[in-house]
Amino acid sequence: MNMRFDEILRPVREGLYCPAGDFFIDPVVPVPRALVTHGHADHARPGHGAVMATRRTLDIMALRYGQDFTGTRDPVEFGTPRRIGDATVSFHPAGHVLGSAQIAVEVGGRRIVASGDYKRTRDATAEPFEPVPCDVFITEATFGLPVFRHPPGRHEIAKLLASLEQFPERAHVVGAYALGKAQRVIRMIRDEGYDAPIFIHGALTRLCGFYEEEGIALGRLEPATLERGASRNFAGAIVVGPPSAFADRWARRFPDPLACFASGWMQVRQRARQRGVELPLIISDHCDWDELTQTIREIGPEEVWVTHGREEALVRWCELEGIRARPLHLVGYEDEGE
Ligand SMILES: [Zn+2]
Ligand SMILES: [Zn+2]
Repeated sequence: MNMRFDEILRPVREGLYCPAGDFFIDPVVPVPRALVTHGHADHARPGHGAVMATRRTLDIMALRYGQDFTGTRDPVEFGTPRRIGDATVSFHPAGHVLGSAQIAVEVGGRRIVASGDYKRTRDATAEPFEPVPCDVFITEATFGLPVFRHPPGRHEIAKLLASLEQFPERAHVVGAYALGKAQRVIRMIRDEGYDAPIFIHGALTRLCGFYEEEGIALGRLEPATLERGASRNFAGAIVVGPPSAFADRWARRFPDPLACFASGWMQVRQRARQRGVELPLIISDHCDWDELTQTIREIGPEEVWVTHGREEALVRWCELEGIRARPLHLVGYEDEGE
C-alpha cells in the first residue's frame, strides 16, 4: 500500500509535521521534538523539548541562544539514517551555511526531502549540497523568478577590491548576515589574496571564532571598535558588520564610509537604494532561478513542494516540465540568511 505523501510530512501551523515520527521540521514555535535544518533564526528557534540536528547546527544554536537553548540535543552525522517512531530520517549537506542540512524522511518506502535553505554554488565555508533521490522534493524559492541570476562571487569581490584601490581613504563597510554570509564574504576576500586585517563588528566575533575552530581560516580579524578618543584609523580598511548595525548608524561613524552590502537581493536596485548602499555585492546563500530548476531536473522527483519565496513561478515551471507541484504557504520564514 502506498503512503499518501501528506501522511509522511504535512504543513501545519507549527511547521512541517511528520505523523509517523511525531516530530516537526524547523518548527516556528516550541514543540516537544524538532528536527532543525540549519542555524538561521527563522529555522532554528529556541524552546523545543528535543532537537535533532547536525553537531555544527547544535553548536551554532548553543552559541546564539545560550541559556535559552534548554532542549535535549541529539547530534546526527550526515548520511547516517536514524529511526524515529515509524519514520527513518537522514541528514544531507545543503550547502547553505556551515552545518546546514537537508532532511530526508522515509515512511513506508517513500521518501520526502525537506531541503531547508540550500545553494549549489561553491562555498568554502559550507559543506557542498548533495542531491538526494526522493519522491517529493521540498524546495525553497527565495529567488524563484527567472530574473534572478546570481553573478559569480569572485566578480563581486573583485568589485570590492577595485573600489578599495580607487578610494584608499574610505572605510569600506560591508553589511553581511552574522551567520554564514559574513564568514563567507571574509573567506572570499582572503581567497583573492587580501591579507590585511579585516575589522569585524562585535556581533560577529563568536560566530567567526566558531568557523575558525571548525577549520575555516578567515585570516586576521580585529574588532571594529570605535571607542571615544581611539586612535585607530579605519581609512582604506574593510569593516564587516551585521545589517542591524547599518540601521543604527554604526557604519556612519567610520571615516568617509562607503556602504557595501552582500546579499542576493542586491540585484534589485531599488533594495540597494532603500538601504543607502553605495556598492551592492550580489552574493547569495540561496539558489538563483537556474540553480533551482537544475536541481529539480537533476533530482527528478515525482512531486515538488515549494516554500518560502516566490512560490507560484516555480510551481508553474514544474507543471510545464510535467512535474506535479504545489505551494506550501508555510509562514514564519524570513530568510535571515539572505
Ligand atoms: Zn530560510
Ligand atoms: Zn537560511
